[in-house]
Amino acid sequence: MKKAFSVLLILLLTFIAACSNSAGGDGDEKTVGIAMPTKSSERWVKDGENMKKEFEKLGYKVDLQYAEDVVENQLSQIENMITKGADILVIASIDGEALTDVLEQAKNQDIPVIAYDRLIMNSDHVSYYATFDNFQVGVLQGQYIIDKLGLENGEGPFNIELFAGSPDDNNAYFFWDGAMSVIQPYIDSGDLVVQSGQTEFDQGATLRWDGAKAQERMDNLLSAHYSSERVDVVYSPFDGISRGVISSLKAVGYGSDSNPMPIVTGQDAELASIKSIIAGEQTQTIFKDTRELAKKAVEMADSILKDEEPEVNDTSTYDNGKKVVPSYLLEPVSVDIDNYKEVLVDTGYYTEEELQ
Ligand code: BGC
Repeated sequence: MKKAFSVLLILLLTFIAACSNSAGGDGDEKTVGIAMPTKSSERWVKDGENMKKEFEKLGYKVDLQYAEDVVENQLSQIENMITKGADILVIASIDGEALTDVLEQAKNQDIPVIAYDRLIMNSDHVSYYATFDNFQVGVLQGQYIIDKLGLENGEGPFNIELFAGSPDDNNAYFFWDGAMSVIQPYIDSGDLVVQSGQTEFDQGATLRWDGAKAQERMDNLLSAHYSSERVDVVYSPFDGISRGVISSLKAVGYGSDSNPMPIVTGQDAELASIKSIIAGEQTQTIFKDTRELAKKAVEMADSILKDEEPEVNDTSTYDNGKKVVPSYLLEPVSVDIDNYKEVLVDTGYYTEEELQ
């Protein structure tokens, strides 16, 4: 009787232990500090929300902060996370070059750091990097232009103008280099003509990816170089820039049957840009599934906190000036009017209603 009772007791205790473990999850009340750049671009809102959800599922506490694209805000948010005793930091930087000192503080406290989507430069204290294949993003954008124009079949010449992303974001160079790796040969052969002559990254750069700044630059390009010429293509690396460019084009009469919109590329599959694609204004965008990236970053953080090796698939591409940061790269997907339903609606990223 006594023996049966002790067996029962042991079973009961095991059961209670199992329950409390699954309720508490693996996180064990550890805190993750997540520093995101801004809420003004939709993708970062989704990234933050997705990560928070995934971390909480595992039982972690989350301190999620947005810095509205002000570097100083982001610095003090990260300092605060360190002071409050975060166990790990996940950071999508505003200025990839500005975090060296604050990461030194994290290093002194043994707080690991995951660079999220954007590489953090000039610090040996970036443990891992979760991102998309950023060079491939540019290749997909550039190849889309080539295919759409039929350049490989000898069509042309066509006029193109080029926009680049923010010069303080390492990704911007990868997008540009990827796009130019396929576009440049056609510029060299004269099949693509840049009427403004602005063919360098610095000339096309858009600080903080600001759509209003892009719109202003497009206004200037149109008035200086396109009074008698038509612009056939605008290479834009990001949906917010694309929409600024499109406003500028519409203001001078593009978008009618006799004066159709040029091809305009983009990135992030933002809701406003998918609507614009459906309306026949923007032509293309790049979908980067933020749900997958969030999952990846959470998996990485969880492994690090359990003293396990996170899974990586690239150990050579992302040199931040101090070290080559072990990375996990996800695949970007090109989206236009022909496949947006399959890629975005069928996978539940957007509902049909949202796109109305
Ligand atoms: C991201 C892009 C985004 C851009 C502007 C880049 O670092 O990789 O997805 O379009 O920032 O927010």
